Amino acid sequence: MKRAVILIVDDEISNIEIMNATLEDAYEVCFATSGEEAIAVARTVLPDLILLDVMMPEIDGYEVCRTLKEDRLLADVPIIFTTGLDDQEAEARGLSLGAIDYVTKPIQPVTLRARVRNHIELKRLRDQLAEMAVTDALTGLSNRRRLEQTLDVETARLAHTGDWLSVIMLDIDFFKLFNDTYGHPAGDRCIAMIAAALNRAVCRATGLTARYGGEEFACVLPGTDADAAMMVAKDIHAQIQSLRIPHQGSTVSSCVTVSLGVATARCLPGMAADLWIAHADRQLYLSKSGGRNRIVGQNFSIGTSASDPGASIYPLNSTEMIQRAG
Ligand code: GH3
Ligand code: MG
Ligand code: MG
Repeated sequence: MKRAVILIVDDEISNIEIMNATLEDAYEVCFATSGEEAIAVARTVLPDLILLDVMMPEIDGYEVCRTLKEDRLLADVPIIFTTGLDDQEAEARGLSLGAIDYVTKPIQPVTLRARVRNHIELKRLRDQLAEMAVTDALTGLSNRRRLEQTLDVETARLAHTGDWLSVIMLDIDFFKLFNDTYGHPAGDRCIAMIAAALNRAVCRATGLTARYGGEEFACVLPGTDADAAMMVAKDIHAQIQSLRIPHQGSTVSSCVTVSLGVATARCLPGMAADLWIAHADRQLYLSKSGGRNRIVGQNFSIGTSASDPGASIYPLNSTEMIQRAG
């Protein structure tokens, strides 16, 4: 297991030395000797826990704590205050700012080690839980929650530069029949194999792959225009074809096939992330109604002037359709 990283902040080197000697066997330890340095180091190394001195010149521990709690990336890092003051008021103030615990100096190595171990363990469990909450258990892909979070973050980020964003939606063809023919456990294995193939194809591009639900998947491809997204979609299709999973019930092939819908647009300020899902879903529907085992892609755009919040969506170019032999 990767060693947890602990940031020790104290303006007195002798204090750092004592804490380091107590913790260095079990953890990666890094240091800062001022509030300013603490914030900079924390942003660089993203520690698992911070031991933070309250009394420091210029920026004191309370101020550092407040700054870190306002930082989205660092807000959840547990902070233990260390201080010479055995003072109830100081303790309450630190805890009210979001610190998780308090130790008083002079440092008792046994106590410090035990508290750090407990909080690191709690943080590990919390991180695991957070990861599970955005992961699909059957496939190990991201789940719909992380997909939607990623889309929100990416549309906001790309809107600054007006860059392209593509979303691919994918649905397994005649999957109900697959379950009826081979049983649900085989269906589950098929879903897992398709997820792995999808991941292989999208790993080569840079994007997020997710299980959208049931036998539907989605990929978010930031900075990817329509042509590049179509290449990724073709690669996904080819990877899945190469699995050659038998499917007697399918009327389009002797093996499991998928239909894909691709939606691409430039991100503009105010564009809702779910527009991409809606458009990709629409293209997926066209893939299905057009005969399945194919890719349909569309470039879309939207007028987004402040006076026209409900502007309509219109296609920019003709729908591209790829028919693949089963
Ligand atoms: P189409 O080609 O139009 O997509 O037809 P389809 O049969 O794939 O679509 P439909 O939506 O009718 O059926 C989807 C099936 O997927 C039904 C459901 O039992 C199955 N399914 C959804 N989630 C799971 C799962 O986790 N495991 C298994 N084995 N089957 C699942
Ligand atoms: Mg299906
Ligand atoms: Mg479906």
